[in-house]
Amino acid sequence: MSTEDLRIVWIYPDLLSTYGDRGNMLILAARARGRGIPVETIEIRSDQALPDSADLYLIGGGEDGPQALAAQRLNADGGLHRAVARGSVVFAVCAGYQLLGTSFFAKGSSYPGLSLLDLQSDRGPARAVGELHGVIDPRLGLPPLSGFENHGGRTHLGPGVSPLAQVTTGIGNDGTSEGAWRGNLIGTYSHGPALSRNPALADLLLRWATGAGYLPPLDDTWTDRLRHERQVAVAP
Ligand code: GLN
Repeated sequence: MSTEDLRIVWIYPDLLSTYGDRGNMLILAARARGRGIPVETIEIRSDQALPDSADLYLIGGGEDGPQALAAQRLNADGGLHRAVARGSVVFAVCAGYQLLGTSFFAKGSSYPGLSLLDLQSDRGPARAVGELHGVIDPRLGLPPLSGFENHGGRTHLGPGVSPLAQVTTGIGNDGTSEGAWRGNLIGTYSHGPALSRNPALADLLLRWATGAGYLPPLDDTWTDRLRHERQVAVAP
């Protein structure tokens, strides 16, 4: 692979791969290649050093125990912090989203997060499981968020981040807002995997990671159908 390739790192597949979020990497790679952008996808297990020179980092969902271990190892490694300081793009889902904050709750205790996003997570009264839809922050220029959530945590945003979306169906952070973003970092509770149901979000991440102002459209017939089907399913 040449140094010109788009480098996408999937963080800790051995710990954070419970909820099908690997699909996000496959979708990003396919959508980049569809525009003639060469891609290198790299899977870094939790016993390996995390390269800090990649363009885009993905973190998926996971159960409480692996989530706590992943946060501990990412803090000890420091590679993701260096990558973010360099301006790399991060897309984090559910457990991965929670661990980017200052603290999160897992297995009855609070754990320190990576403090890359100004937010903290605790436990909600009941597990949030089901469709998750919302209106995305207009500054991101994206159509509505469509996803599926499955988490016990609730997330409280500080002034240093903006909500990714306002919830129209589901719980997200707290029943009102969903996810968070700051600079090139986006976190969401949306599985599905998220980027299969939100290709415009995938393309935003690709534009950020490549610096491309414009990406030619791809044939999204099947995704449009899926989005429509889910929208109809949650319509009142
Ligand atoms: N363990 C976390 C929670 O339940 C995250 C779950 C997930 O990643 N789906 O809140």
